[in-house]
Amino acid sequence: MSLIAFSVSGVIVMVISGFLTFAFGGYGSPFLQHTDPDYSAAYVVLETDAGDGLKGYGITFTLGKGTEVDWSRERGGAPGNSSHSERGVGPVGEAGRKVLCFPEEQMLMHGYPAYTTSCAWLGYSDDTLKQVGFLTWFCRFKVKVGADLQDDMRRCRLIRDMIGPEKTLMMDANQRWDVPEAVEWMSKLAEFKPLWIEEPTSPDDILGHAAISKALLPLGIGVATGEQCHNRVIFKQLLQANALQFLQIDSCRLGSVNENLSVLLMAKKFGIPVCPHAGGVGLCELVQHLIIFDYISVSASLKNRMCEYVDHLHEHFKYPVVIKQASYMPPKDAGYSTEMKEDSVRKHQYPDGDVWKKQLAAQEN
Ligand SMILES: [Mg+2]
Repeated sequence: MSLIAFSVSGVIVMVISGFLTFAFGGYGSPFLQHTDPDYSAAYVVLETDAGDGLKGYGITFTLGKGTEVDWSRERGGAPGNSSHSERGVGPVGEAGRKVLCFPEEQMLMHGYPAYTTSCAWLGYSDDTLKQVGFLTWFCRFKVKVGADLQDDMRRCRLIRDMIGPEKTLMMDANQRWDVPEAVEWMSKLAEFKPLWIEEPTSPDDILGHAAISKALLPLGIGVATGEQCHNRVIFKQLLQANALQFLQIDSCRLGSVNENLSVLLMAKKFGIPVCPHAGGVGLCELVQHLIIFDYISVSASLKNRMCEYVDHLHEHFKYPVVIKQASYMPPKDAGYSTEMKEDSVRKHQYPDGDVWKKQLAAQEN
């Protein structure tokens, strides 16, 4: 590693939005609590005075209006409350010249196991479920549940029949239930042998997650959560309370690489596998670095470990993830893969990008 002296000479903050979320294929939102997400992102560019024009790039995103809050905060540089100040713009990862080295054969040959969430959005018809399920080459699948029990049972039965008894099935309720409801609902879905139920209730309800974990333990169902956890303190309490069996860091929501690393270390101490949240705008790109680091430098194990993968919006990034045989392949480019393609930024910048000019013009007519 060589160190280069430079200082930040400018900060550009912009809202990038108007992405086509084609993965959802017109089937509506994959989220139970957000019916009309638009996947906008706050994108930060740090300019430096380095002679070669070195820049740093950071990104965070919401499902829509929340991005305006992130954008305002980052522009204003106003300190938030203690929890808010530790979340938000993910790490400016490119301003640093690192030499990546992955000697471990496992990673080079086989990569890090991925699972797909794209196989069973709530809006898919049975025919679409069959097509999507069979087309994927994954061994691990996640299904959204929680809107209607009978419909969940029908879709889970269909998917379990398609993938067979050996492949891994997970379920995600996106915070839909209260505690007793989560236990009751999952008791009914236990026959489909899910490895975990994700976000069964409010992400802030640590003791609620603990109660659900305890109740579902005899059924062989773990609780997974963390994509909404915004700092290491909440993760510490989840771990101390035995409230989760699978820990899901989110590389944008947790503030910077350092916060993610502290959570990886705590998970190691508690013997809990980290299975990061990904998807959205650039999450897969960022998280690929964290999973490889976790495997090589912290956990040294792939047991019960996998990383979420959603196949959309990668085309907007300069260093997109590489997926082979249902695994994340080790990134070969230095940095945190946060840099977006200039053309994508230009087209999607709000409100002056071409995408937005067309949309705004259409709204006026
Ligand atoms: Mg989720």
